Amino acid sequence: MADGEPSPGCPRCGGQLAPLGAGRVCRSCRGAWLSEDRLAEMVRMMNDALFAEALAFAIREAAEAALRCPACGEALVPESFAHQPVDRCPRGHGVWLDDGELTAALRAVVPA
Ligand SMILES: [Zn+2]
Ligand SMILES: [Zn+2]
Repeated sequence: MADGEPSPGCPRCGGQLAPLGAGRVCRSCRGAWLSEDRLAEMVRMMNDALFAEALAFAIREAAEAALRCPACGEALVPESFAHQPVDRCPRGHGVWLDDGELTAALRAVVPA
């Protein structure tokens, strides 16, 4: 995305996505849109690990209509990560997590 283009809307509620660090967060529903690399980096930091490991996504059954990728408009694939439901762009643009899911997922990846 070039600078100056309007930021794409929230896949969940259509609200405005505001930049937050290397990701984006919805001003309305507080969901988060992150690149997979960024999510892997957050997991790495939570574990105090030297290298980021590949993220382990699992397929999940979605009870709702597919969300749309804010980057390409493709239907996001319902998956789960660290026991949290996430929605992932099949073209690799990023991962959507609803409000609270990112925090919960990051807590879940830390070894007890
Ligand atoms: Zn939203
Ligand atoms: Zn996409």
